[in-house]
Amino acid sequence: MTKISEYSQELLTERIRKTENFLIITHQNPDGDAIGSSLGLFHALKNIGKEAKIIVPNDFPAFLKWMPASEKIIVYERNKTLVNKLFLEKPFIFYLDLNEFSRVGKLQELLVKSEGFSLLIDHHPDPGKFTDIVMSDISVSSTSELVFNFIKEFIGLETIDKQAAECLYAGIMTDTGSFSFNSSNPETYGIVSVLLSLGIDKDFIYNKVYDNFSKDRLKLLGYCLDQKMVVLDEYDTAYISLTNSEKLNYKFQPGDSEGFVNYPLSIRNVVLSAFFMENGKKVKISFRSKGDFPVNHFAAKYFQGGGHKNASGGESHITLEKTIEKFINLLPEYIDDFKNGKIC
Ligand code: 5GP
Ligand code: MN
Repeated sequence: MTKISEYSQELLTERIRKTENFLIITHQNPDGDAIGSSLGLFHALKNIGKEAKIIVPNDFPAFLKWMPASEKIIVYERNKTLVNKLFLEKPFIFYLDLNEFSRVGKLQELLVKSEGFSLLIDHHPDPGKFTDIVMSDISVSSTSELVFNFIKEFIGLETIDKQAAECLYAGIMTDTGSFSFNSSNPETYGIVSVLLSLGIDKDFIYNKVYDNFSKDRLKLLGYCLDQKMVVLDEYDTAYISLTNSEKLNYKFQPGDSEGFVNYPLSIRNVVLSAFFMENGKKVKISFRSKGDFPVNHFAAKYFQGGGHKNASGGESHITLEKTIEKFINLLPEYIDDFKNGKIC
């Protein structure tokens, strides 16, 4: 594995120019940055005459399906035969917005056998060593920001057209909570400025992502906040849980719970928020924190997960009730350790 900074620009540019088959792979339960960065790269490659295929392990939320060319994204779960065929062609593989191989979910079964050249572009801590080259920077807002820099250096800034710009902007916007976290780096705004100059309408993009939910989703949010939120004052913590049957009651669609975990953090003293959701037999967990509390460490240690210091996720294979019980039982010691500087 080579760091991209150590890789010759000429060599990589040449390799891209000569390659015909590109695959762009991102993590399961793709979010705005995963889809935005993938499509941004897709459009840039298309503009130098390359038809890349984007593969996601499972489907992505409707509020991301307005992005130009999003209809071309191949969902592995539903197209296994086609994806199997694509791998036979020894493609050049871009991995975007993931730091661990396991984040590709079921796609692992194909990727372990893949012989193509591979490159990881990511902004999560501790990038894994599963590709030939890695472009990793945890100080940037998003993978979309890194993809912008990658395109600029190795494909050409002129290949970022309005369509690519819309996708990259959507990735930056969603991964910063609309510029409310991870967004104090002036370079981010330098990139946004370039994207705006390409004619994108940032208000249109905001509206497509955040004002595009179903009536049921808004009612579900109301229900979660009013009926399901538990505040543990002694631990400066709050959590929300959601069962399979509650999801059914509100005609739950993938992505409907996106952002729910952030709401408890708006309570003055709450520094840790958790969201537990039954997903078939598994429990999907999201953690968010304010300040120095490292939820990625917590998620990795106890819930087979990871992520960023203030935004992480994981999963649990015991019941929802038992998962919440485990979480509450872990809090006193973990918070003590954190306060005593044993965790940082
Ligand atoms: P979310 O709570 O929105 O699903 O995820 C928040 C952050 O945690 C994202 O950066 C995501 O990449 C990471 N994350 C979510 N779930 C998992 C997981 O199961 N494993 C790992 N390693 N990271 C996760
Ligand atoms: Mn991201």
